[in-house]
Amino acid sequence: MYMTVYVSSAVELFSEQELTTLLEKSRKNNGTLDITGMLLYKDGNFMQLLEGPKEAVLALVAKIKLDTRHRGVIVLLHEDHAEREFNQWAMGFKKLDSDASLEVSGYSDFLDLPLTSEQFLQNPSKALKLLLNFKKIMR
Ligand code: FAD
Repeated sequence: MYMTVYVSSAVELFSEQELTTLLEKSRKNNGTLDITGMLLYKDGNFMQLLEGPKEAVLALVAKIKLDTRHRGVIVLLHEDHAEREFNQWAMGFKKLDSDASLEVSGYSDFLDLPLTSEQFLQNPSKALKLLLNFKKIMR
């Protein structure tokens, strides 16, 4: 199993409808590719975890990098991973708002940060912990 986590910034803020359209397309495509994962969106920034067969994940990341709706894609983590973490989700999704810190106890410090914060870039395990925490609360 291969896992990638990246962050990026929307060129323009995504509306609810645009996020829904993006998710519908992602879930459909990912289901076909045996890719699962999680997408976070906060204040125009994205953090996404993609996992699945290595070739499929790398090809999808390459495609996503070319998407003109966002820019500044920075891959935080790319590694072989023992098991699939998000097997229930072709693409889980959480839009973070001001209430999010209430839901994710112990992670309020992370949530106050932009998803593209240096703290995540310098310490990608924090990004992974954040994503995995959403898996727990969204069950
Ligand atoms: P089509 O949907 O036919 O798209 C063809 C082209 O049009 C592509 O170049 C696409 O980038 C572009 N495009 C499509 N819709 C729009 C639009 N509304 N505005 C501008 N250009 C557009 N795709 C996945 O399959 N799985 C994912 O997990 C995934 N995650 C994403 C996360 C982020 C943050 C972003 C920005 C995009 C993500 N995408 C994801 C979308 C991905 O970049 C491609 O748009 C999508 O995979 C293309 O699907 P398709 O091959 O069926 O082509």
